[in-house]
Amino acid sequence: MEKLIYADNAATTPILPAALEAYRKTALEAWGNPSSLYTLGQKAKEVLEKAREEIAACIGASPREIIFTSGGSEADNQALRTGAYLGKRKGKTEILSTAFEHHAILHTLEDLGKEGFTVKLLPVGKKGVVEPKVLAEAISENTALVSVMTVNNEIGTVQPIAELAKICREKGVLFHTDAVQAVGHMEVDVKAWGVDMLSASAHKFRGPRGIGFLYARRGLVLKPVIFGGAQERNKRAGTENLAAIAGMSVALREAVSNLGKDREKMISLRERLIAGLQEIPYSCLNGDREKRNAGTVNFCFEGIEGESLLLLLDEKGVCASSGSACTSGSLDPSHVLLAIGLPAEVAHGSLRLSLSAENTEEEVDAIVAAVKDAVAFLRSISPLWESLETGKKEHWLKK
Ligand SMILES: *Cc1c(COP(=O)(O)O)cnc(C)c1O
Repeated sequence: MEKLIYADNAATTPILPAALEAYRKTALEAWGNPSSLYTLGQKAKEVLEKAREEIAACIGASPREIIFTSGGSEADNQALRTGAYLGKRKGKTEILSTAFEHHAILHTLEDLGKEGFTVKLLPVGKKGVVEPKVLAEAISENTALVSVMTVNNEIGTVQPIAELAKICREKGVLFHTDAVQAVGHMEVDVKAWGVDMLSASAHKFRGPRGIGFLYARRGLVLKPVIFGGAQERNKRAGTENLAAIAGMSVALREAVSNLGKDREKMISLRERLIAGLQEIPYSCLNGDREKRNAGTVNFCFEGIEGESLLLLLDEKGVCASSGSACTSGSLDPSHVLLAIGLPAEVAHGSLRLSLSAENTEEEVDAIVAAVKDAVAFLRSISPLWESLETGKKEHWLKK
């Protein structure tokens, strides 16, 4: 096979060698249980607390506000269950979120719905950005919690988190953000943003898999979702995955220290990619043109199936996605693309490319060439495309 071109960084990222080294070193040298009283255990405890300090500093939090989880999904689950629980104690049973959240949010909300909570999903408009006014109008006396993601994982749009959090604070409503696609990719400052809870996951910023954290503002008492020992000050039971935590800390510090430099490079790659793909007729870039992160590009091409496109790209060594990794394999169109108002037929022809600072201009050009070829081929054998071209069906996208 040719050299791989990896353009699926929103699904996962390759571990940073320095993070792997920190993992290895911790696993070999600080392998004691941080809860043990002897010196070996206490050495592990020191590593744990140092990582907590370093991670907290990367997002403007204090160490006591960070608890380690098994990743973004667990952090999301715990944040929502905490908000629901605290709300219920005050007699509030409504939770507001958006129609284009990650399934870690949507499926937890579905479950809370079965437990008697009312869940309302705010519209995100054609551009995939939540309007603060829409949130302000939706909040009621009964609202316990609002959860809005910072950066959408499929289309890369960035939400006005500070504004949304401010509205919630003024109305005495808890605010959580799933910042899994933001932490390590843009400046995150929990204090400036004024959020109550924030979720992050290491494998999205070149840390190890299966580790993440939940920020909870000082004074907010998290409800455990995993019960057992007294680790994480009784908020998350289970012997700490110390090696992964140490690896996560190294990866996050490295990502944060390179933010400015990486961003500039990625935006230039992103613009090159968008310009190339826009040459394909009957295509569209999904999500707001300006309010987007540096690396994610999501397109729809009329008359094709995203899944077939992915297979052809894979043959050419290009790793891409049709949406979120969690929904690929199912034939339903992406809930995110439906939420921004695309008809199911158009949403089926989607492609997500998520770049990193490791990508090159040559790779971007190769991706564009591969997508152009593949789309042309798939259209040449597509009955849907034929009916669009012969006028039996009307095009939805512009030429
Ligand atoms: C990847 C992702 C998650 C899930 O994180 P895991 O660590 O894989 O459990 C949650 N939310 C968003 C927005 C994501 O991109």
